[in-house]
Amino acid sequence: MRRTLIAGNWKMNGSFSANQTLLTGIIAGLPVGDAVETLVCAPAPYLAQCADVLEKSSVAWGAQDVSDHAKGAFTGEVSAAMLADCRCKYVIVGHSERRAYHAESNELVAQKAVLALSENIMPVVCVGETLEQRESGATNEVVAAQLQAVIDVLTDGQLARVVVAYEPVWAIGTGKTATPQMAQDVHAFLRSQLAIKSVAAANVVRILYGGSMKPENAKELLAMEDIDGGLIGGAALSPVDFLAIISAC
Ligand code: PEP
Repeated sequence: MRRTLIAGNWKMNGSFSANQTLLTGIIAGLPVGDAVETLVCAPAPYLAQCADVLEKSSVAWGAQDVSDHAKGAFTGEVSAAMLADCRCKYVIVGHSERRAYHAESNELVAQKAVLALSENIMPVVCVGETLEQRESGATNEVVAAQLQAVIDVLTDGQLARVVVAYEPVWAIGTGKTATPQMAQDVHAFLRSQLAIKSVAAANVVRILYGGSMKPENAKELLAMEDIDGGLIGGAALSPVDFLAIISAC
């Protein structure tokens, strides 16, 4: 049984006062019960604030990136140990914006996942194809290579602690969403790739869908067999929309 995970990716948005309003709004409106795990991934300067505000709630917090080095002369980088100090439970690695704007390779993303796990932080590994890749029929090949780089460097036990997020690049921030069946097909394929390495891990790894998920489409997407939650960008900045997605589970 995989517990649904609804994760917000705030990207480079927020301020102390806006975060306070957003976080307290989420806490106040959370449905009763523990069927859904809720996570917010905040910019690094606000992780301590998340820890303070969310500490007594059931909402987890995490980061949006982590260095591929453990420590040292890497100006501007944030290490997995620092995220652990901020009590992050999760960290996003390999978001398409980082792959595109910071030229992150599959191997670099895999190294980030290794370092996160070494600090007991669960990596949310993002994979996804561009529109051009989808239209040329390369979707499975692209996401398989992105996932395989991570599979290759982890033990079966470590793999079971990973979260995968399928985020078609053409659906992120565009308002275009994959149809539930399109997403389900890729999720099932990703699970089959995990199962080649470990059936036990494949059964427990949560595969989130991300890409313009909003209250209006969340229910249909989350009803699919292999969609175990959502990674939400724009709609995670509004407590009303984020809570509506949680309620759709
Ligand atoms: C994201 O950035 O991870 C994302 C899914 O964004 P949006 O929901 O805005 O498409």
